[in-house]
Amino acid sequence: MSARMVLLGPPGAGKGTQAVRISERLSVPAISTGDIFRAHVAGSTELGRRARAYMDKGEYVPDSVTNAMVADRLTEDDAASGFLLDGYPRTAAQVDALDDMLSERGEALDVVVEITADADVVVEITADADAVVERLLGRAAEQGRADDTEPVIRRRLEVYAEATAPLAAIYEGRGLLLRVDGMGGIDEVTDRIMAALAARLSV
Ligand code: ADP
Repeated sequence: MSARMVLLGPPGAGKGTQAVRISERLSVPAISTGDIFRAHVAGSTELGRRARAYMDKGEYVPDSVTNAMVADRLTEDDAASGFLLDGYPRTAAQVDALDDMLSERGEALDVVVEITADADVVVEITADADAVVERLLGRAAEQGRADDTEPVIRRRLEVYAEATAPLAAIYEGRGLLLRVDGMGGIDEVTDRIMAALAARLSV
């Protein structure tokens, strides 16, 4: 059984937490572009230096940089028969790049899970966004993320709404999209995602 999966969802929907849990249950690596970028920043690599300028502002790192990094990561042995991408693709150009990376290997995505949150409909910054900003400011205090300041979080939500929210429709058009309600307890959401995946992938 292969499970080549993408997890979509707005900042603050608990995507990273769910990605790790789902990947453990399905024994595939969780590949988080945000985590890879942060590791490069922490290690002061050239890639980290380039990425940081964008991350600190809540902007996306350029597609060329991100695509090359993901292509490289997907050639590692652990991703041979499956993976769960968290935070990638995030732009329509990244969707195309991922298609190309996989088709070169004779592979394709099996499923795209979208975790929906109240703030998922935040096209403008509204009252709903305030709850997400609060949640992410709480995470900033716990994890010390430099990009979790209020103006940067608001920018991340805007960029998400502009560039990334439309990706769900692309995958829906291909019949790959599963929408899962991300509200509720962490275990509850994991169970919902697993149930939706089980129905789709026969896992
Ligand atoms: P969030 O918690 O906002 O979902 P991530 O940890 O996934 O954030 O990513 C943090 C930052 O890393 C993003 O704001 C962006 O600057 C950069 N980044 C991560 N993934 C991508 C991507 N696929 N394309 C461009 N930039 C990315």
